[in-house]
Amino acid sequence: MSRALIDLHGGDGETTGVVTPYGDQAEATLEALRDIERDGGPSAEVGTAHRFQGREFPIVVFDTVEGEHSRPLWMAKASRAPEASDWMRSGIRLFNVAMTRVQTRVYVIASGTRIQEAARKAPNSPFGHLHALIGSSGVRVLPAKSLITPPELNVPRGEFGDRLAEVLSRHVEVSDVDDETTFYASFVAAIRSARTSLWLWTPWVARRVRMILPELRAAVDRGVRVTVFVRDPSDQLQKKPANLSLVEDLRAVVHTVVPMHVMHQKIVVVDEKTVMLGSLNALSQSWTREVMVTMRGAYFARKILTHEHAEVFARPPKCPRCGQDDIEIRRGAKENWYWRCYNSQCPTGGGNKAWKKDIDLWRRPGSAKR
Ligand SMILES: [Zn+2]
Repeated sequence: MSRALIDLHGGDGETTGVVTPYGDQAEATLEALRDIERDGGPSAEVGTAHRFQGREFPIVVFDTVEGEHSRPLWMAKASRAPEASDWMRSGIRLFNVAMTRVQTRVYVIASGTRIQEAARKAPNSPFGHLHALIGSSGVRVLPAKSLITPPELNVPRGEFGDRLAEVLSRHVEVSDVDDETTFYASFVAAIRSARTSLWLWTPWVARRVRMILPELRAAVDRGVRVTVFVRDPSDQLQKKPANLSLVEDLRAVVHTVVPMHVMHQKIVVVDEKTVMLGSLNALSQSWTREVMVTMRGAYFARKILTHEHAEVFARPPKCPRCGQDDIEIRRGAKENWYWRCYNSQCPTGGGNKAWKKDIDLWRRPGSAKR
């Protein structure tokens, strides 16, 4: 919710500060903001009330972390009553600090049930006072359930609510789950949506690739960079002549095909924004039961690409001994990654004597010699 509010006001050129009582919530919010970061930095300042003492923001989101389904926490229990503990009293101070950081508009994210409860049991508490404000001019209540698309609660949400719901629908990480019967429709749609890059980890290449090749060719023609990781040709299935020739067909269409020894990952990453991850071999699936999950979010997509060393692994060198580019990626017993020449004509004689070179994972992508 904080992320949607930041994005909404950012569109209007307004700066938002997110205040929360807890360090953990500030961390989680910062993490969520990475999907909408601008110019390489977070799109808003996020911190605990303590950290923001003395600061002001045009817009403030006060995330109380009070949910309907958990026990009342610090903000719901904040109190100045004679019997209140020091902890309850410090809650009042924190609440005041959070609410006074604002210049024009403050959003309080809290449970409506908790606030009504406070009105009955502790009208003099911060939540009790919040409840008393409801209905006065300049104060409005927007049930979060009405903002989800499709709404779980059908109440009029007004012009502002409609805008916020629209922003929210773009940010909620839509997770599609596909099985082998529905995956290819989603996969083809994903390839067609690609504008800049497409990464595939698909251990095996079999007849299925024929159906996908025209889609990959169209993507390449649009200027999409396509990189595919497959198993190396020592693999029992991959080394069948029919499959080897399909790999050659694939090489003729996409920019880069990199063989990796005993690879088993099945991943699709589109435009560094959408990740499909699961058990299905996108270029060979024929009859087995599978599941693939689609996750949207630039931060997660980049995390997967980094985890798989995508940029570095996509640039195999030529073998200096035979001059060919039959280079595979292997991983040694010490977890080190290395390039290895598998060309059967290589003068090294292959096998244990094959040409090898450790992969420098710290080399900056783009600086590697092809
Ligand atoms: Zn060689």
